[in-house]
Amino acid sequence: MGIPVSQAWTVATYVLKQKLTGRKKYPLVLMLEPLFRCNLACAGCGKIQYPAHILKAELSPEECFKAVDECGTPMVSIPGGEPLLHPQMPEIVAGLVARKKYVYMCTNALLLKEKLHLFKPSKYLSFSVHVDGQREHHDFSVCREGGHDIAMEGVRAAVAAGFRVTTNTTLFDGADPNSVRAHFDELTAAGVESMMVSPGYTYDKAPDQNHFLGKARSRRMFRAILSNRKKAWQFNTHPLFSEFLMGKRNFECTPWGMPTFSIFGWQKPCYLLQDGYADTFKELMETVEWQNYGAKSGNPKCSNCMVHSGHEASAVDYNFSSVKGFIETASKYMFPNLYEDQDAMKLLNEWPKPQHLPLVQINASVTSKIEELQSVSGD
Ligand code: SF4
Repeated sequence: MGIPVSQAWTVATYVLKQKLTGRKKYPLVLMLEPLFRCNLACAGCGKIQYPAHILKAELSPEECFKAVDECGTPMVSIPGGEPLLHPQMPEIVAGLVARKKYVYMCTNALLLKEKLHLFKPSKYLSFSVHVDGQREHHDFSVCREGGHDIAMEGVRAAVAAGFRVTTNTTLFDGADPNSVRAHFDELTAAGVESMMVSPGYTYDKAPDQNHFLGKARSRRMFRAILSNRKKAWQFNTHPLFSEFLMGKRNFECTPWGMPTFSIFGWQKPCYLLQDGYADTFKELMETVEWQNYGAKSGNPKCSNCMVHSGHEASAVDYNFSSVKGFIETASKYMFPNLYEDQDAMKLLNEWPKPQHLPLVQINASVTSKIEELQSVSGD
C-alpha cells in the first residue's frame, strides 16, 4: 500500500461516516492554494499566467486554517504556485499538522533542500515533489535545464532527513512510456514512499497548447506505463483510479471531491475550471450546478479530462458505496495486481521515441514569463 495504515484508516472512517450520515456530496481532499507565484513557468501550467499583483498575493495562515476547518477533509493538498515561496508556509503546515490533517505539500523542490530545516518530520506531512520524468523530459516539461537534478537532490535530502516524500508526475502528449517506467525506477531507488501519475489538463491559460492528451491516447499511454509493473513500485493513487487511467473501468467526475480554496475564494466547480467563486464552502456546494460538469454532461471543457482531482474521489466513493466495491478494492490492496499484459508490452516496445523541441526553443517562448515571475518573487 502506498500510504501509511493510519492514513488509510483515517480516510476510511471519514468516508464511512459520510455514508452513514447519508451525505451524498462530500469533499475528500482540500486543494489549498495559498499563492499562484512560482519560480518556474512550466509549459503546461495554467496558474502562472496571472498579472503581477495577483502573483504577489497570498493567503494568510488564518485564512488557510479557516478554509480547512470549514471544509473538514482528512487530507489537505497544498499546490500552487510554489508553496515554498510563501514566507509563512512552515507556520501553515505546522497548523495543519496540529489539526491532524494529512498534508501533501506540493513543491517543484527547487528550494526544498535549503528550506527543509523549517519543517519537522511527521506522519501527517508529506512533501509531494513534482518530477515529470527523467532528466530530459522533466527539464523540457518545466522549461528549465537542470530542474530535474535539483528536484532529485531535494527528494534525496528530504528522505535522508526522515520526511515522508511522494512524487507527482504529470504526463502530456509526447511522453515516452519507456522513459516514464525508468523514471519510476529512479524515484523508487531514491527512497520515495510512493508515486502519483496523472494526465495533464488542457488549461486555456497554459503557454503550450499543443501537448495535451485526448482520452483514447491517455488510456493507451497509461496502459503501456502501468501494465507489467514492477513489485517495488508503490503508488499512492487509489488502485481503481489507476485502472480508470488504463481504460479498464470508467468513472464519472466527482468535482466536489477535491474542492479548491485560493486567494479568490472557493473555486467553482473544481481545481481546473474557474466558473466563478464562492465566499464559503457551503455556498460552493449549494450554488454550483454540478450536473453541468463531468464527461456525461457534454461540457466540452470536461470531455477530455481524466485528472486525479476530478476522478480519484470517484474511485474512493465507489470503494465505499457497495460490498462489491469494498471487496474489489480490498483485494487490490491485499494482493497487488501487477497487470501482466502481453499486448501492453508490445505497445511499449513499439512506442515511437518522443520528438521534443530543443529546450532552448521552449525557453525562448517562456523567458519573458520567467523574468516576470522572478521579479515578483525576488528570486
Ligand atoms: S471533468 Fe475535469 S474539468 Fe470537468 S469538472 Fe471534472 S475535474 Fe473539472
